[in-house]
Amino acid sequence: MTSKGLLQRLNDGETIIIAEGYMWELERKGYVKFGEFTPEVVLNNPEVVRMMHEEYAHAGSDVVEAFTYLGNRKRLRAIGIEEGLEELNRRALRMARKAADATGSLMAGDISHTWYYQPDDPKAMEELRAMFKEQIEWAVDEKADYIIGETFQDFGEAMIALEMIKKYGNGLPAVITLTAYQPDVTLDDVPIPEACKRLEDAGADVVGLNCARGPQSMIPLLKEIRKVCKGPLAAIPVPFRCRGKFKTFQSLLDPDTGDRLYPDNLSAQLCTRREVREFAQEAKALGVQYIGLCCGNSPAFLREVTDVFGRTTGASKYSPDFTNSLSRSTDPKNKKIQSYMFDVVD
Ligand SMILES: [Zn+2]
Repeated sequence: MTSKGLLQRLNDGETIIIAEGYMWELERKGYVKFGEFTPEVVLNNPEVVRMMHEEYAHAGSDVVEAFTYLGNRKRLRAIGIEEGLEELNRRALRMARKAADATGSLMAGDISHTWYYQPDDPKAMEELRAMFKEQIEWAVDEKADYIIGETFQDFGEAMIALEMIKKYGNGLPAVITLTAYQPDVTLDDVPIPEACKRLEDAGADVVGLNCARGPQSMIPLLKEIRKVCKGPLAAIPVPFRCRGKFKTFQSLLDPDTGDRLYPDNLSAQLCTRREVREFAQEAKALGVQYIGLCCGNSPAFLREVTDVFGRTTGASKYSPDFTNSLSRSTDPKNKKIQSYMFDVVD
């Protein structure tokens, strides 16, 4: 059980491991629709979300994040369930609080990019502030330990989110993560390291990156951010093979056909557990203190991260062990079947 809050743990030099990527995993399980990307599963199948909270805590997540990603007023209005907005947010938060208490984890409220950031439209910006405000107030009300603002492509929207957390978050810590696409600048043209620095200077307790980039394309940018930011750094990539000129999972192509894979065929470029492990090692060496995985995450991946940071958790007991496995046996009597299994033939 943990009784230390987020800031104290970070100040003590601890690393926070966080499971993100609920949307992706819930789609894989058959409860969320690609294209809409909305969290009504919280109302329709809450038991599935609760189970995921438990699975990720079991795999080593220090945080249960309320599943309210894109659960904002305008988005829910667009899909015709605006009347369920408050119930959806509160239910998601309560479920997360309960799971966090049961597993000794921190509970994070979550606001995200909205898809409605229009800096040239004062009315739209007023609505944006109001959308963040209500979600933040529900998170405070349902006893979140801190608030995450995530997946911001626009620096301006991230700053507004932070400003609203400061204003209505009742003093709760704020973790703000930007999403970097192919260029190392935000959609509103601020170099990402500078954007992180400005967020840090404006009072964000943790800054960094989540989503879109994979381990290999995120690490170099994190190094640039590390040069300018002094405080805790967040690294939450998608576990896909984004590298070279394909920095984002949106840009990845099928190695066989050349077809675009995003979003429903990305398994063709999924990282291996070893690659996830190598990412965690690199992030650790870089001094990343807030680490996780975004879209494409699974408990088995998260367990690799947990292991790299020297933690033992419920799932550690079931980490691979091939001592009694036929496939790795050195007994000569298994030679034939091993040959049938493994030998590549022309
Ligand atoms: Zn993501």
